[in-house]
Amino acid sequence: MSEAEFACIDCGEEYPPSEPRWRCGCGGPLEVAPKAIFTRESLAARPATLWRYREAIPVAADENIVSMNEGMTPLVPLSFSGAEILCKLDFLFPTGSFKDRGATVLMSKIKEWGLGQVLMDSSGNAAAAVAAYAARAGVECDIYAPASTSAAKCAQITAYGANLHKIPGPRAASTAVAMEAAKERFYASHFWNPWFNHGTKTWAFEVWEQLGFRAPDAVVAPAGHGSALLGAYLGFTELLRAGYIDELPEIFAAQAARCAPMVRMWEENLEAVPEIAPEDTIAEGISIAAPVRWKQMRDAVRESGGCFISVKDETIPPLLREFGAKGILMEPTSAVAFAALALLKEQGKVKPSETAVVPVTGHGLKAADKLEKIMSA
Ligand SMILES: *Cc1c(COP(=O)(O)O)cnc(C)c1O
Ligand SMILES: [Zn+2]
Repeated sequence: MSEAEFACIDCGEEYPPSEPRWRCGCGGPLEVAPKAIFTRESLAARPATLWRYREAIPVAADENIVSMNEGMTPLVPLSFSGAEILCKLDFLFPTGSFKDRGATVLMSKIKEWGLGQVLMDSSGNAAAAVAAYAARAGVECDIYAPASTSAAKCAQITAYGANLHKIPGPRAASTAVAMEAAKERFYASHFWNPWFNHGTKTWAFEVWEQLGFRAPDAVVAPAGHGSALLGAYLGFTELLRAGYIDELPEIFAAQAARCAPMVRMWEENLEAVPEIAPEDTIAEGISIAAPVRWKQMRDAVRESGGCFISVKDETIPPLLREFGAKGILMEPTSAVAFAALALLKEQGKVKPSETAVVPVTGHGLKAADKLEKIMSA
């Protein structure tokens, strides 16, 4: 269906999108750019799944789509920090996190490439999502995850039939082992393969539709490797280019202070992402010391007029209790974006009159062990 350009973001080298490839020959990350977009009029008659944005999703043939009719998650207003905000309940997916947006598209591309075996590394949610969609596609899947990954996420990965390898040490150790194994099998990494973010971008399309074909003023997303952040940027940029919105929303990216390489780069105005010594954080899902797509993340935030912002671990438990008491149970990682929004409001960077949308990225039950301690404290 839609043709797309597939090229390196560092050196510009182009590749045919029909060829399995997760990295440029120069070592840089690749990006894929669809050339088409849906018409506004066509949407009304389509099913309420994220595949309603079909023209903008760079998978060639419909027969390769690996889907569970996921998407079009609720947008819920609630009052927070002195104003009404909109929560996008993006944990309402088959595997309980927004990563299914990326997994349905990446696994469809893997099917299109005709691959029967893949591997990847993740702190848990991306692995669960890729494992579930691999099961649905009949693709064998090996997962490398930190030994500290929560029990619920490990059980999920195993339940979907993936081979789970628990790797001792920090999050980066899992990536290192996976990249070594990737010499033998295709590396279905959610941060190296650009198809993933062309799935996560559908959260922006949905918000635009749910607001009556408007962009919000601001979005705040938790950011590790940047799949929610870059998804927002790609989605709203494609809408802007099509003339469907007049302006990008300000995109704010939230990191945990204990592991905040992008915040440091931003605040110290560094030319490249610095090497940091990450500390353990309650926000396990965004504990990423060396984000591969740091250039894209920086440029997206800069172009939108937003900023990177860090929040302290101590601010998370009270927020989890506050939202729980409003009927929304989220993972500690997801709460980082709300803690950031509270700070942005204090600093006047998001005004009370502005429409702010925050995706609730992961279901609280994913981190039942941590929540049990927090709620009983
Ligand atoms: C993956 C994830 C994020 C965002 O992570 P990125 O590394 O930026 O893609 C946010 N919240 C949860 C719960 C996640 O699992
Ligand atoms: Zn290159």
